[in-house]
This record gives sequence, C-alpha cells and structure tokens, in this order.
Amino acid sequence: AGEDIDVLVIGGGAAGLMCALTAGARGRRVRVIEHANRCGKKILMSGGGRCNFTNTGTTPANFLSANPHFCKSALARYRPDDFIAMVDAHRIGWHEKELGQLFCDESSKRIVAMLLEENRRAGVRIHTATAVAGIDALPGGGFRVHSEPSHAGGSRGEGIAATFDAAALVVATGGLSIPSLGATGFGYELARRFGHTLVPTRAGLVPLTLSGKHQEHYADLAGVAVHVSARCGKARFDNAMLVTHRGLSGPAILQISNYWEPGRELWLDLLPELDAEAWLLHRQQEHPDALLQTALADVFPKRFAQRLCDQWFGNRPLRQYTHRQLPEIAAKLAHWPITASGTEGYRTAEVTLGGVDTREISSSTMASKKQPGLYFVGEVLDVTGWLGGYNFQWAWASGRAAGEAV
Ligand code: FAD
Repeated sequence: AGEDIDVLVIGGGAAGLMCALTAGARGRRVRVIEHANRCGKKILMSGGGRCNFTNTGTTPANFLSANPHFCKSALARYRPDDFIAMVDAHRIGWHEKELGQLFCDESSKRIVAMLLEENRRAGVRIHTATAVAGIDALPGGGFRVHSEPSHAGGSRGEGIAATFDAAALVVATGGLSIPSLGATGFGYELARRFGHTLVPTRAGLVPLTLSGKHQEHYADLAGVAVHVSARCGKARFDNAMLVTHRGLSGPAILQISNYWEPGRELWLDLLPELDAEAWLLHRQQEHPDALLQTALADVFPKRFAQRLCDQWFGNRPLRQYTHRQLPEIAAKLAHWPITASGTEGYRTAEVTLGGVDTREISSSTMASKKQPGLYFVGEVLDVTGWLGGYNFQWAWASGRAAGEAV
C-alpha cells in the first residue's frame, strides 16, 4: 500500500499550485509532483519576466474552446479581483500595462514565491524533480501513484521514489509549448487512457512564418513594427505587428495566430485608425508635388513606406496618381493579404490550443465524467485564452474550482 493522502496534483505550474493551495487550505492532505527541478517555470518566464498574471477585463469571450460555455462557471467564481487580493496580501507591486493587462512591478519570481508560500501555509508538500512512474485506479476508488526521480526540465534525479494512495488525482501538466521548460504530452496520454476524447492540439499565440516570395518581400525589414488590425474570419486584433527574419510576430500576430490555420485567409488593415482614402486624397490636394513615399512615411516606419512604394505602389509625386489609383492604394492598405506558410510551432508558442475535450469534464468542479476522482485543470484542457493575462486567469480559476471540490 502507499501513503494515504487526499489529493495528488501532477504538475506544479500555475493551475496545479492554485489547486493544491486551495485544497490544502480546506484541510485536505495534498501532495504535488513536479518533474522539473522547480515549480512554475512558465510563470517565471512569462510577461518578459514580469508575469502578466491576470486581465481585469476577463470574460468567457476571451477564450477559444470547442465548447465555449465551459469556462463560464469557473471564471465567474474566481475573478481577477480575487487573484489581485492575494497578490496585494503578499505586498507584490503591480501595474496595468495596457488593455487591462496586470504585470508585477518587479519580477514574476514574486508570483511563484507567493504561490509556494500559500502552499506551505496550507500544509501542501511539493516534490520537485519527481516524475510519475505509474498510475492505477484502485478498485474501491482513488488512485495508487508511484513516483520516481526525474531527469526532465533541469532535474538531475534528486526527486523521490514513493507510492501514494490518493482519493483524488488532479492533472495539471499544462500544454506542449516550450518543451525545454518541461512541457510534455503526459496529461493528454493520461486523459486518453481513462477514456477521454482529445481536441486536436496545435501551437497558439505563436509567430507566423512566411516563405518564398512572401518572405522575400519582408525579410530585410526584420525589426520594423507597424500598428495593424490583424483579421481572420470574425476575429480582429488591433495592436503592433513585428517583422521578423522568418515571418511576422508582435501582439497582433500572436493573437490572430489562435484563429489561423493553414488555408485560412488572413489579412491586415495597415491603417486601422485612419480613413486611408480620404487621407490620401487630402494629402494630394495639399501637397501635390510630394512623393507618395513621403506621405506614407508619416504613418509608417520609413523602411516600411519605402518597401510599399518599391514593391507595390510606385513612388511618384502625388499629383501623378489618378483619382482611381489613390482609392485603390487605400483599399489595398486596408485589406493587405498575408499568406502565412505556417507557425513557429511549440518551440516558441505561448500556449497550446485544443486538449482534453471539456464536454467530458464538469464545468463547476473540473472533474472527469469518465473516471471518478480524476480532475483536469489549466491548459491541458481545451480552453485557450487570448494574449494578455487570460491564460493565467484560466489557470487560477480552474485550479481554484478543482481545489474547492477535491
Ligand atoms: P504550466 O504552468 O505549464 O504547468 C504545468 C507543469 O506541469 C509544469 O511545471 C511542468 O513542468 C509540469 N509537468 C508537465 N508534465 C509533467 C509530468 N509528466 N510530471 C510532472 N510534472 C509535469 N499567460 C498569461 O496569462 N500571461 C503571460 O504573461 C504569459 N506569458 C507566457 C510566456 C511564455 C514564454 C509562455 C510559454 C507562456 C505564457 N503564458 C502567459 C501562458 C501561461 O504560462 C500558461 O497558460 C499557464 O502557465 C498554464 O498553466 P498550467 O498550470 O496549466 O501549465
């Protein structure tokens, strides 16, 4: 027999730590198994080291899922204000950057330290550098889990070999992005083993790649940033786009990447805040002898304006463009097609789209409808947020929901 505990959480990331501290505070005997050499590596790396830990404007509309209603219950019961209250109680300074995105003033280390301290107070024991060697569902309910020292994610086998008999098993192993930090498909495999359906996974919040002539048009513009409205189907994000050596990145592109799939039409409004046609006609009237490139350089970085003229529009004095040509240029600027060849993949993706199908999970407790005592929280589920703190808010909210139920 193994050591008797109430809850075993697999994965010491955002959702797992929140679940564990919540269950521990309710008096449950909780253990966390984390195979990397420390907890919360993605939290540490997030938000450029400052962790965009929530978004004050979080609503279910900020998430993608095959089952869009699923996230509502947990998000309604654990709100951004609830997490902010914990952050404030730990005297962690924060500020809003833009669009409701809250960041630490100092370092994301403070968020990990806060979660570990809350776990310590709640009596949770965390085993880092420890992997799962085997799981069996016990005939009378619950699970027997064997652990072993791990060599994943910076670990050097310093973890523990032990056996736990847990009434509840919480899978908090996250998504597939950034394998070097310890991401694995373990949670998906476990889900499948217990009869769960998986929504196909793909990289999300990820730079797009261009190839062939599409890449040649932009490649030497690497580093240039343009404010755009990126659009795909009904989705639309106004923010910065950054040209890279291999394609396009920046918040507008990362956001729209969640909606794009090979073959889907993707386009940019390059002047989302301007009536480009009226503006060009006005410039022509005011400065007929000015070059088109000079006019465009007022609204775009110079190198970008130059490329637009060299490659597509010509560079003549404005008076030489007819009253048909300027509206055509304006229309092209407002509907700039992008032919992406793919994405940069999990190596650089911030999240994984798809995952455990939520139609087989209770939206109020995160419990499996297939296997009693089994729970899934965080990114392993088919719930993916926009860029801007939404993914952590989902991790906190789903972790809290399970932590209150186990
Ligand atoms: P994770 O935090 O990934 O935790 C999963 C844990 O499980 C990891 O510690 C992993 O090592 C462990 N694990 C995996 N497999 C096993 C196994 N077999 N055995 C034991 N342990 C295992 N979101 C935001 O909201 N704001 C941001 O600023 C932000 N910035 C990001 C920056 C980067 C570079 C990346 C990659 C992501 C960012 N995200 C951000 C997304 C966010 O980090 C994730 O959505 C969130 O961490 C998911 O929480 P989780 O607990 O489900 O998974």
